Amino acid sequence: MTETDQTAMPKPLALSELPEPDQRLVTKALEASAQAYAPYSGFAVGAAVRTKGGHIYTGANIENAAYAAVTCAEVSAIAAANAAGDFEIESIAVAGHKFVDPQDSTQVVTPCGRCRQMINEAGELAGTQIQVLSCNGQLTKIVKASIAKLLPAAFGPETLGITGAWPDMKSKLHAAVHRLLAEKPSRS
Ligand SMILES: [Zn+2]
Repeated sequence: MTETDQTAMPKPLALSELPEPDQRLVTKALEASAQAYAPYSGFAVGAAVRTKGGHIYTGANIENAAYAAVTCAEVSAIAAANAAGDFEIESIAVAGHKFVDPQDSTQVVTPCGRCRQMINEAGELAGTQIQVLSCNGQLTKIVKASIAKLLPAAFGPETLGITGAWPDMKSKLHAAVHRLLAEKPSRS
């Protein structure tokens, strides 16, 4: 690796080196890891997203007996923001740790490939360059990088030309749901 290596990750920061809002966000991510359902891996991950309005939504990983049916913490947190109708995400923090013996909270946890893809899409729709704060469980090592850094040359909604189309489609969707609700059979 050379100093001109464009793929090199930034040096990890200490918690105290982050601005206060980011300190709060990474702490929320670690807190959220307590809600992980991780009986198979023994590895708990928490995530917290902050939207343009300053609201924070959290999530944790949810495993399943069918191993492929796992939901990552980042997906849970992004879904929580979307469900609240507050989808203009500007930052996401991720913190993870192995909580079964031998415990390990020293490794920095970065989003998996699928999560990077979802974070990129959220950023393109919101018109934000989402900052990703990847943390170890001790919150002693925090790597701050943009999603563009973590997922260069991304395939996204811009590639398919739908970034500008979605707001109008979303209005149509809301109108359709209101109409369906208004027309639903009344309870007897
Ligand atoms: Zn993931």
